[in-house]
Amino acid sequence: MAAIRFSDRMRERMTLSFEVFPPKTEAGWKKLPGVIDDLVSFHPDYISCTYGAGGSNVGMNEAVLQLIGKKVTACTHFTCIAARKESVREQLSRYLEEGIEHVLALRGDYPRGWSETGGEFDHASDLVHFIREEFGDRFEIAVAAAPGGHVECRSEDEDISFLRLKQDLGADYIITQLCYDLEQFKVWREKLDKAGITIPIDVGIMPVTTKHGVMTQCFSHNACAVPRDLALVLTHHWFDKDPDGNEIPEVKAAFREEGLNYSADLLNRYLKLGIHGIHLYALNRSSDVREVLERSGFHV
Ligand code: FAD
Repeated sequence: MAAIRFSDRMRERMTLSFEVFPPKTEAGWKKLPGVIDDLVSFHPDYISCTYGAGGSNVGMNEAVLQLIGKKVTACTHFTCIAARKESVREQLSRYLEEGIEHVLALRGDYPRGWSETGGEFDHASDLVHFIREEFGDRFEIAVAAAPGGHVECRSEDEDISFLRLKQDLGADYIITQLCYDLEQFKVWREKLDKAGITIPIDVGIMPVTTKHGVMTQCFSHNACAVPRDLALVLTHHWFDKDPDGNEIPEVKAAFREEGLNYSADLLNRYLKLGIHGIHLYALNRSSDVREVLERSGFHV
């Protein structure tokens, strides 16, 4: 059994975790150990690392996990994209040998132009099933879920029934897709209760720092609802270019300032709901994480 089980911990107290990704540049790699040290200074329960389409960045994902694992428990994301049973078996065995016992089992975002996984697993539920069959309880398994429904789902109820399937097949806890609309989250959580979904929910929060970032995160893959208070942040700083098309640094800075306050407030509003965990999408920017945690008064 995984030595640490965050799902058990979450039932006793709230957890804090962060998400990072394998840098795409040399400069990013140089900075990464410092970023991880900064994140570790906030005493997270775990730090997870994303996984690229079809394992395209698998070596880099492992390098990041090794860096994390020296300081705090590491959790790897793992997707169905182009995944075959044999390769999954091999790769997950390697993770175990490297001491990684926590996996976020995902279908994965389809690479551009794809409309299926191109492997032997169609859905995250298939992966959860396979991991449990092959490895018993050696991994603790997290799964993703989108409050309000995944962008491709035919109905929210059907989406929730697939989440229930992931639980039934052995998922230990949920990490949510970004959700800025707390009313939507509350309604969704009630529906999960009614559907008999009892595993803990780790709430994913994406700090709001740039207009482009918010727009990309909300709309590129997710169709994430933008409530009035977030819309106001966008509107207040919408005109961020001069007539020649050059960025206006003061507007960018003002957006970041209001966005960080918004994010800290969002975190506090989630805390008031009584949730199992906060999973901050750190995006390798520990300064944003520091600002959000400090402004929210979260026990750092
Ligand atoms: P699934 O659970 O497979 O659901 C996908 C769709 O299929 C949904 O509409 C669902 O209703 C439906 N469905 C589910 N199960 C079944 C079934 N058995 N039969 C029929 N239909 C079904 N992507 C990456 O590529 N790499 C990452 O590192 C990564 N990290 C992420 C981290 C977090 C915290 C989150 C929330 C998402 C992350 N993603 C990542 C994105 C994720 O891969 C996408 O949201 C993807 O579109 C769906 O993944 P899923 O695991 O929820 O898929």
